[in-house]
Amino acid sequence: MRASSDAHRSRTHQACRPPLIVCDVDDVVLQFATPFEAFLLERGYSLLPRSFKLTGNIVDAAETALNDVAVNALIHDFFIEQDRWQTPFAEAVDSLHALAEEADLVFLTAMPPRHAEVRRRLLDRLTLSYPMISSEEPKGPIVAALHGKRALPLAFVDDMVGNLRSVGEHVPDCALVYLPPDVAIFRFAPDPEPHVLRAQDWAEARGLIETHFRN
Ligand SMILES: [Mg+2]
Repeated sequence: MRASSDAHRSRTHQACRPPLIVCDVDDVVLQFATPFEAFLLERGYSLLPRSFKLTGNIVDAAETALNDVAVNALIHDFFIEQDRWQTPFAEAVDSLHALAEEADLVFLTAMPPRHAEVRRRLLDRLTLSYPMISSEEPKGPIVAALHGKRALPLAFVDDMVGNLRSVGEHVPDCALVYLPPDVAIFRFAPDPEPHVLRAQDWAEARGLIETHFRN
């Protein structure tokens, strides 16, 4: 009797809980590569997309590549003033609002946590006041913890194949949506695994997620 009433309570509880969407921010919701290039130009540097990484491809006026320490310092400075540079992709805000009507939405950003406050303000200003986790740890275990044991649909959106792989390994039932930005350096990005869903833009990503939640 107790087992059956527990099972009933669990089902009732689950029925009240919406599906979950975990969504990356940089180059998925907010543009990163394009404004970062503009930021570099303002400082006298440029990005030469020759491979899928920043270190080695950011050069000074003499086309000498900056080392790791210099590149990290530039990324740090960019994030300090991100609200001056970063804007959302077309249809990102409207798509997220629509998805959040039937799902819990959490931003999972790989940005260093010390920049979380300025990002929070920027997202709020864009009416994206959904919870945000800022962590440089692998995304798979974080998404698995957020999902817990809920027998409910889950979707994860990211522009980095490694993050999609990490989440797929930890939460096999998760719909993995690859949404790469349309920028030159992504021509060198590795391909996602065959089971990953690929979207060209937010309208397509939204459709893929809604279809996953209905099935
Ligand atoms: Mg990203």
